[in-house]
Amino acid sequence: MLKFEDYKYEKIDIDKFKEEFNNHINKFKDSNSFKNQNEVMQHLIEMRNYFETMATLVEIRQSIDTKDEFYDKEKTYYDEIRPIYQGLVTNYYKALITSKFRKELTEEWGEWIFKIAELEIKTFSDEIVEDLKLENKLSTKYAKLLASAEIKFDGKILNLSQMGPYLQSKDRKIRKEAAEKATDFFEENETKFDNIYDKLVKVRDKMAKKLGYKNFTELGYLRMGRSEYGPEEVKIFRDQVYKNIVPIANKIRKKQEKRLGLEKIKYYDEPLEFLTGNAKPKGDKDWMLDKANKMYSELSPETKEFFEFMTDKNLLDLETKPGKNMGGYCTYLPDYKSPFIFANFNGTSADVDVLTHEAGHAFQNYCSRDFKIPEYIWPTLEACEIHSMSMEFITWPWMNLFFREETDKYKYSHLASGILFIPYGVVVDEFQHWVYENPEVKPEKRKKKWRELEKKYLPLKDYDGKDFYERGGYWFRQGHIFRDPFYYIDYTLAQICAYQYWIKFNENRSKAWQDYLNLCKAGGSKPFLELVEYGNLESPFNKDTVEKISDPINDWLNNIDDTKF
Ligand SMILES: [Zn+2]
Repeated sequence: MLKFEDYKYEKIDIDKFKEEFNNHINKFKDSNSFKNQNEVMQHLIEMRNYFETMATLVEIRQSIDTKDEFYDKEKTYYDEIRPIYQGLVTNYYKALITSKFRKELTEEWGEWIFKIAELEIKTFSDEIVEDLKLENKLSTKYAKLLASAEIKFDGKILNLSQMGPYLQSKDRKIRKEAAEKATDFFEENETKFDNIYDKLVKVRDKMAKKLGYKNFTELGYLRMGRSEYGPEEVKIFRDQVYKNIVPIANKIRKKQEKRLGLEKIKYYDEPLEFLTGNAKPKGDKDWMLDKANKMYSELSPETKEFFEFMTDKNLLDLETKPGKNMGGYCTYLPDYKSPFIFANFNGTSADVDVLTHEAGHAFQNYCSRDFKIPEYIWPTLEACEIHSMSMEFITWPWMNLFFREETDKYKYSHLASGILFIPYGVVVDEFQHWVYENPEVKPEKRKKKWRELEKKYLPLKDYDGKDFYERGGYWFRQGHIFRDPFYYIDYTLAQICAYQYWIKFNENRSKAWQDYLNLCKAGGSKPFLELVEYGNLESPFNKDTVEKISDPINDWLNNIDDTKF
């Protein structure tokens, strides 16, 4: 059987690729029958799948080992040629929406692909190719800067991810010191982070203006493929969070403060939820994979088949290693119809979250892999996060396999952490709206704005006088702010949807599973709010959705005696 290591990488000659692609676009335009045009369209799709497969293979292999010179060079190459490729796809989209056979194509492939094409066209012109290249380069620079952290701690040299367990230490002295050491890395590189971000903001603003927008906000929304809502709806959502979620989050923090026996909870105490330590998985990577296998084989026939596919083909890279990029992600290789999961295991409960969250993404990809239209493999990102965040809750009945006697503790923490997360997510979002509406401000003022928003949505945050954070430097670690502007509110919107599934699974498991499975199978064939409806969920922009989920969560949290953890 073909495994990930056998997936063959071939360098794409962009000049040849461009010529062949443009030839086919001409053939597409010149087609004199629907049948003929549809065939040419399939060929263009094959070419795109091939490009994406090669570029993604490079991205995966480079992120697993950033010190690998071959793939590092290839990564630089794809950063360079991706905007050219994007230009080709835009040409294809232009041909698509002006097709003589649009009616027949719509009957065959649905209306949504045409809408996607229209949105995409609005985000690109040849005039911004150089700017896009710079944007990619700056994003890679940011990722490398983060990965370069070599923190001397506990007699070892650690990266930021490896600091995780120390940040959760039961010994206050250790977690404080670890938090300060990690902070030092950001403070020592403050100018570098500020410069990278400042350049990113300016180049994005420049692109927006070249394309005829007032500032980057509108372009940012289009780039996220948002067709049904704008900044106004998102503001309504943030206001709901302020009203309904922030008070619950404050209560959760107060309980934590009491459990830890502290007079005042400081920023370095936040990662430690319980004096007895946070719930930890009771074994190593292979042990966890074994449990995950059991879990997915019992959950449903569909998840059984999926997880066997992932493990048989080595489509998971889970261990943290020197030189490996931080974080975790799920991606997809079209030519092999293979999802891929990347993570940095560190012995905390976050490892189990990878096996549920990233696996939720991968499961959706797997369910959607037979769509012939590549755009339908992934939905827009707020919809993507519904699959993953819901899977975290759907797998609750198997959490005892991983956490044994600490299962209730894990569940409490899991449910509560979503609530604690939402106000932070809203800070990240409101911050970016402000940044792109004020692209000219100095880095100091940006940081000041960040701190101001923290005070609004995270009123209990106490930085213990740490100057760097008081000046507003916390967000340097938030990669989305650098790499994926306006991609963050997506997590909070999806969290609200995932909570709805949590409530539904508690009420009627088999019905809820059917809804969830339908949603996964629909992939990206519809826009967000249509998918929400299709999955039997309520829109998070409805005025009372946030309030409705708040009550059952509040009740569940209140019915648990957290002092026993
Ligand atoms: Zn995710």
